[in-house]
Amino acid sequence: MIGLAKAKARLFIISAPSGSGKTTLLRKLVAEKSLKLAHSVSMTTRPPRPGERDGKDYHFVSEREFKGSIKKNAFLEYEDNFGYFYGTPKSFIEKNLKKGRSVLLAIDVKGAMKVRAAYPEESVFVFILPPSLDALKKRLKKRMSDDGPAIRTRLALAKKEMSYKDRYDYVIVNDRIDRAFRRLEGIVTQQIKGRVSG
Ligand code: 5GP
Repeated sequence: MIGLAKAKARLFIISAPSGSGKTTLLRKLVAEKSLKLAHSVSMTTRPPRPGERDGKDYHFVSEREFKGSIKKNAFLEYEDNFGYFYGTPKSFIEKNLKKGRSVLLAIDVKGAMKVRAAYPEESVFVFILPPSLDALKKRLKKRMSDDGPAIRTRLALAKKEMSYKDRYDYVIVNDRIDRAFRRLEGIVTQQIKGRVSG
């Protein structure tokens, strides 16, 4: 009906190598209440890092519980990263899309490609790049919970992940957090409000 066009719900899939500053950006985005974004909290078997909260950053579960969820077909996609499982709960996405609410997912490149296949119409892909590999290394080192070999593994994976960036709709370089945030917020706003379904 004319004048009653409703904004179409989107899935914003954000990928970034660990240590690229993604978490800070996403927290700011979810805090932007006017966007009404639902944050998909993944399930993981990785232990929490200092400051991380169960149910907010991740649902931290045992491997047994994770495998039980796989059996129940509860994941839209899941991956094994650094020896830990990470998965996107399916029901949360379905429930929010049905309500017309857009969802934010922070997942790796392999998971992102699976979501694209499941939701080709709704998905918007954003890749966040660190300003340089050196900056990434420094950020990873600051994380007390990762030791030397773990940092090297993550750096190698980061390089591999960055090679996927051309498959994304948008690439944001996180050189300055305020600037990167404005760009991300602009993309999300335009996608939600710019495309309407009659
Ligand atoms: P971290 O341990 O640093 O929080 O996350 C490691 C990687 O796993 C990151 O690239 C993160 O985006 C990814 N990740 C987090 N949740 C999920 C998920 O549900 N599915 C997939 N495929 N990757 C995830």
